[in-house]
Amino acid sequence: MGKKRILSGMRPTDKLHLGNYEGALKNWVALQDEYEIFAMIADWHVLTTEHLGIPNLNDLIREVTIDYLAAGLDPKKCTIFVQSDVKEHAELHLLFSMITPTPWLIRNPTVKEQARDLGLIEKDEEITSINYGLLGYPVLQAADILIYKADAVPVGEDQVPHIELTRQIARRFNYLYRKEVFPEPEALLTKVARLPGLDGKKMSKSQGNVIYLSDSPNDIREKIKTMFTDPLKVYRTDPGDPEVRGCPAFAYHKIYNTSETEQIEADCKQAKLGCVDCKQLLAERLVEALRPIRDKRTEIKREPWLVDEALRKGTKKAKKIARDTMNEVRDVMGLRH
Ligand code: SF4
Repeated sequence: MGKKRILSGMRPTDKLHLGNYEGALKNWVALQDEYEIFAMIADWHVLTTEHLGIPNLNDLIREVTIDYLAAGLDPKKCTIFVQSDVKEHAELHLLFSMITPTPWLIRNPTVKEQARDLGLIEKDEEITSINYGLLGYPVLQAADILIYKADAVPVGEDQVPHIELTRQIARRFNYLYRKEVFPEPEALLTKVARLPGLDGKKMSKSQGNVIYLSDSPNDIREKIKTMFTDPLKVYRTDPGDPEVRGCPAFAYHKIYNTSETEQIEADCKQAKLGCVDCKQLLAERLVEALRPIRDKRTEIKREPWLVDEALRKGTKKAKKIARDTMNEVRDVMGLRH
C-alpha cells in the first residue's frame, strides 16, 4: 500500500514567519517521509480577505516557495504547487457550492471568528453580511483537499470545523451521486508550538510583530531587543515569573534554548537575570537555530531555477491528479467533458 496523502497550504499574503514555521511548516517537513504531501500555495484564498488582490502577489508566491524549500520540504518527496495553476480547484468548488446548504457555512465558527477579526462584522452581527468568497472559503478548501482525495489534513484545533465541513461535503456528494468518489479526510491533529509575536499577541504581518524566516541575524537581534517581557519585571532586581505572566521571550527560550530554560526561569525568578541579557542570549540562540534555513535560502536565491523546477514538477503532478478526479466527477454528475 502506498503512502497516505496529505494536503495543506498557506496563503501567500507575506513571506513566512516563525509562527508559520513552528505552527505548520516544520510539521510538514517532519511528515514528508511518512506521507505523500501536497503543499499548496493558496493564492486564490488571499482574495477571500483581500478581494482587490495584493500588488506583489507573484513575488510573494516565489518567496513562500523559497521558504518551503529552505525549511526542508523536498520536491522529490512532496508536491509543491500554486493553487491557481490548477484551475480544476475552481470547477470543483463551483460544483460543491451547488450541494452545500448555506446554514453549514453560516454556522461555521472559524469563518465567524475570522470575519470578526477582520472587522467585517460586529461581535453579535450575523455572518450573512460578508462576501460569498469569505463565507464560502471552506467550500473552496474542501475542493482543494478532495480534488487530491487526501486522506488527512494536518490542522490545529481551530481548523477542525473546516475539516468536518469537508467530510460533510464529501459524504453528501457520494450520497447524492451514488458513488464513493471522495474519501472523508481525517483531521491530523498535531501538537505544534504556538509562538507569540514580539508583543505577545498572535504573530501576524498586520500586527508588525513578526520574525521572518528570511530575517538576517541583525534583523533578528534588533527585533528581539523590542520583544515584550514579564510586565512586572522592570529592573534586573525585580523578580520575574515568566511562565505565569506569559513572557514572550521565555516562550521562545523554551523552543530555541531548551538546555538553558530551567536555569533562565530560576534566575529570572530570583532576580539574578535581567531582561536585556536574557533577550541577548535568546537572539544568539535564535540566529543559530535559523542558520540552516537562512543558508539554504541564500543557496536557492543563487540558483533560482530550483524554485521554477519545484513548481513545474509539482504543478504537473497536481494537475494530472486533479484532471483525473474531475473526469470522474463529471462522469458521475452527467456533465460534459
Ligand atoms: S529575564 Fe528573561 S524570562 Fe525573565 S522576564 Fe525577562 S525576558 Fe522574560
